[in-house]
Amino acid sequence: MAALRVLVGVKRVIDYAVKVRVAAGGGGVQTQGVKHSLNPFCEIALEEAVRLRERGAAAEVVAVSVGTRACQETLRTALALGADRAVLVEAGEGAAPGPREAAAALAGLVGRLRPQLVLLGKQAIDDDCNQTGQLLAAMLDWPQGTFASRVELEAGAVRVEREVDGGLERLRLRLPAVLTADLRLNEPRYATLPNIMKAKKKPLEVVAASELWGSPPAPPRLRVLKLEEPPARGGGRRVEDVASLLQELKQSGRI
Ligand code: AMP
Repeated sequence: MAALRVLVGVKRVIDYAVKVRVAAGGGGVQTQGVKHSLNPFCEIALEEAVRLRERGAAAEVVAVSVGTRACQETLRTALALGADRAVLVEAGEGAAPGPREAAAALAGLVGRLRPQLVLLGKQAIDDDCNQTGQLLAAMLDWPQGTFASRVELEAGAVRVEREVDGGLERLRLRLPAVLTADLRLNEPRYATLPNIMKAKKKPLEVVAASELWGSPPAPPRLRVLKLEEPPARGGGRRVEDVASLLQELKQSGRI
């Protein structure tokens, strides 16, 4: 068990505090000059992997991001948060790998690095897909524990607690396995200045996505047709009492 390697998928996304705007033409969102960060659920996945290593249950934590060169910044953050090394799977400028492309690249990397555990976030906050972990488990034919809120490693297996409607579900998965992190799994640490400095010296390898996807890569099956801003909110107004509120709601056809 001491030699267990954990691979953590970390996605670069628009920072959660940024107000996202639709780009001209409606084909996407504005990304130029917009603050990007490590997807919050990936931070939780990474924190769990680092804690497993700190407890001696895992030997190495490798962070991987699939995307453009800009993802190196995300990977440096992951290294500052405790990953031992990082891999950028470079998909070329303008490429926006979706869950299928990300899962295919991760599956290729699993073939090379042979981790016993892959930890991902339950969802990326930009596309809200919640698909990559499930797709990866299917591609590898590995067991999956999604929405994990507690993870415990034991010899050759991992115990996972998941929050489901009306209670908790407990699973025991044989390793190797894919897990996705839920919000309550842990509270990620902050990167300290000394760790940010140390992260600059940790290894960051670049692999071309085409090497992992195979050539030619399968064309994406998903196309965003149009994005629209939600309608602007009309201002609020006070009414005298409940009776007038009900009357107004009836008059406006809302009830
Ligand atoms: P999604 O299926 O897009 O909601 O993403 C779920 C999780 O899959 C994320 O939290 C990441 O851990 C992983 N993931 C998705 N896309 C990428 C990517 N481009 N690079 C690295 N990890 C990714």
